[in-house]
Amino acid sequence: MSDLSVIPLCVPNLEDENGLEARTVNQCFENGMVSYGGAFVNEFQEKVASACGARHAAATSSGTTALHAGLHALGVQPGDLVIVPSLTFIASANAISQCAAEPWLCDVARDSWTLEAAQLEKMLENECMRDSAGVLRRRPSSQDEAKGSEGARIGAIMPVYMLGLPAEMDRICDVARKFDIPVIADGAAAMGATFRGHPIGSIPDGPQLTALSFNANKIITTGGGGMLIGNDEALMERIVQLTTTARDWHRGYHHTEIAFNYRLTNLCAALGVAQMSKLDGFLAAKHAISQRYAQAFAGRADLQPFPEVEWATGACWFSGVFLPEWSADQVTAMRAHLDRHAIRTPPFWKPLHLQPPYRDAPRMDLSVSDAIWQHILPLPCSTHLTVEDQKRVTDAVLSFERQG
Ligand SMILES: *Cc1c(COP(=O)(O)O)cnc(C)c1O
Repeated sequence: MSDLSVIPLCVPNLEDENGLEARTVNQCFENGMVSYGGAFVNEFQEKVASACGARHAAATSSGTTALHAGLHALGVQPGDLVIVPSLTFIASANAISQCAAEPWLCDVARDSWTLEAAQLEKMLENECMRDSAGVLRRRPSSQDEAKGSEGARIGAIMPVYMLGLPAEMDRICDVARKFDIPVIADGAAAMGATFRGHPIGSIPDGPQLTALSFNANKIITTGGGGMLIGNDEALMERIVQLTTTARDWHRGYHHTEIAFNYRLTNLCAALGVAQMSKLDGFLAAKHAISQRYAQAFAGRADLQPFPEVEWATGACWFSGVFLPEWSADQVTAMRAHLDRHAIRTPPFWKPLHLQPPYRDAPRMDLSVSDAIWQHILPLPCSTHLTVEDQKRVTDAVLSFERQG
């Protein structure tokens, strides 16, 4: 089968007979604006804000730096806890650690793979208490008490829009408001998703901030890049300051605080502007791919589609099959079988509590995350995947004979 062309999991779609991406990026070469100055950054921010229904947007160098700057701007401090589902890409937790805070790992719901609102309420209700100053803290452990230290402050909640599917944000934000904790959504792969009909930047009473990523395999790409979107003007102005060295331009090299250089370059933004003109087409392609997988496997109860929920329409960033009845070894054997057909399906995210840096992170019951992660098999889903290539994928999946 060595003559088969390789079908990757998910790669950028830059194919365009008019060369739009190349032509747009080339404008930066023509006018020399390849770095932080230049008109494309603003144009890109406006296009993303508008597509997401948000009033403001601040471009960043990656999704991870967007999350870090967002947490910082929301007031997360060293020693704080930030509630985040264990079943996510490690960047969600790394951004928390970069604030010298710690992730407090929670589980996902079985039917959505997103942060479980009922467990979140239990965490804040039963596992936390207010100190004499009214600050919400996790109840001190016996070790904390022995050391005379109080429990860690709850700094923020970070729901993750799993595979582009929004979490149950009305319930989550209701709980967050009740306890007065800010919410930053990791919507890295969710551009184009909607929550109860609202684009993710205009969810009524929604999160303060939503982070997006534009790395190579996301809905659109800038090569590497990210963005924070939000509707609170003062907060968003502070984020622009924080991500651009907090410089007071009226006073030359005068910087008002310790800040970051998390800017997106004009070169990357140019690519983003060109990609944004294709967003609707990319989303339609993602949905069509997801539907074709669902149809091809409809006759096989053991090959389930990824979750759909009543509260949201996902961006279908990744689609594939969920194999809850299979053993982890059988899923690995399927991946090897697909590899022999030149179909690349790398293993899915290992949850945070199984990663060396977060082995000791505080956690809740994680039985759903533990039960499902090895049974999630994303299949090729680049937006320019042809119907023929997708048929090659579904035929290969269906031709696999499960042993044992
Ligand atoms: C891609 C991704 C990120 C990180 O984005 P980068 O741009 O690669 O830093 C964070 N969280 C989730 C859920 C992601 O899928």
